[in-house]
Amino acid sequence: SAIFLKYPTEYPVAGEHIDIQSKELTVELEDNDVLLRNLYFSLDPYMRGRMRNAKSYVAGFQIGEAMSGYGVSEVIESKNDAYPVGTIVSGFTGWQEYSVIPGASGLRVLPGARESPIPLSAYLGVLGMPGLTAYASLKIIGKPKAGETIFVSAAAGAVGQLVGQMGKKLGLRVVGSAGSDDKVDYLINELKFDAAFNYKKNGTILENLKRAAPEGIDIYYENVGGETLEAALEVMKDHGRVIACGMISQYNTQQPYGIRNLHHIVSKRIVMQGFIASDFVGESGAFGKDVGSWLVNKEIIYREDVAEGIDASPEAFVGMLQGKNFGKAVVKIADL
Ligand code: NDP
Repeated sequence: SAIFLKYPTEYPVAGEHIDIQSKELTVELEDNDVLLRNLYFSLDPYMRGRMRNAKSYVAGFQIGEAMSGYGVSEVIESKNDAYPVGTIVSGFTGWQEYSVIPGASGLRVLPGARESPIPLSAYLGVLGMPGLTAYASLKIIGKPKAGETIFVSAAAGAVGQLVGQMGKKLGLRVVGSAGSDDKVDYLINELKFDAAFNYKKNGTILENLKRAAPEGIDIYYENVGGETLEAALEVMKDHGRVIACGMISQYNTQQPYGIRNLHHIVSKRIVMQGFIASDFVGESGAFGKDVGSWLVNKEIIYREDVAEGIDASPEAFVGMLQGKNFGKAVVKIADL
């Protein structure tokens, strides 16, 4: 298992804050419990928030316990008729090779997963929590209208990739930012963004954004916070919408960035709304149907960054927080 060892104050360090330890698993299933063989698990930015000794919307990690999050697994022992041996499920599991899930709590059966052309890891990204996040928040909070301009930050990431491609489908002009030239090439050439820039180069973020969106922006899909949010408020048009999904530039620092131009919210009548993915469970049906068919029909693509084996997970997690991932960060533990 990957064990949480210590609360970080800035970027977590593999081996210091999270490390691999072998633990014998004694399996004594009670009624309704299942034993899972984990195949993939997800590495997500919100997990950094669980490494704090403070209350948040998801319970914190416990020192000395395995890290946990969404995974895809196979049921290999079962005392629950709804989850017979061999069922493929997604749900909240551990960063570990095997997990016992009391009462099979929160597990979702992935019907047809063995035969499906869709890879299992997709249920952690484009067809999982980040995908639902992108799909529902863009529609419900963004209220996009054809012809408008959207700016997406962390655009080559799990959420950003889908937001940008949905934006194109909806007839928006799509502008993105990312932290490397390779990611910017991918946005322009593969995802067909109208414009994209590397926020680490060629002047300030504001200068880059003004070049990429000279007419201003109607919607800002906020994944980053800090200087990027400040720049977005500056170029936003009247009645703009900010979909406040995340602010990853603020997760690993003790010195929060002070946004200097919040006054634009008043004069431009900007609406800025935050949310958490679970607010949108009601959209799950429409999401699975739409995004599933777009994938099968190759109307959208996605990229993932797969770390191999549990031993690689601490380093891969820290790397994701630093932008070393190119696409949705997942860990593969075993083949089906
Ligand atoms: P990503 O796949 O986008 O991975 C994180 C990316 O963030 C990195 O690859 C890096 O890309 C970028 N990043 C890291 N540090 C910085 C920084 N200082 N400045 C700018 N960019 C940075 O992760 P997700 O798509 O899963 O998540 C994206 C955002 O969405 C996060 O803020 C996350 O918290 C939020 N989120 C919120 C949810 C909700 O329910 N509200 C649900 C899911 C995600 P780069 O190379 O471009 O810098």
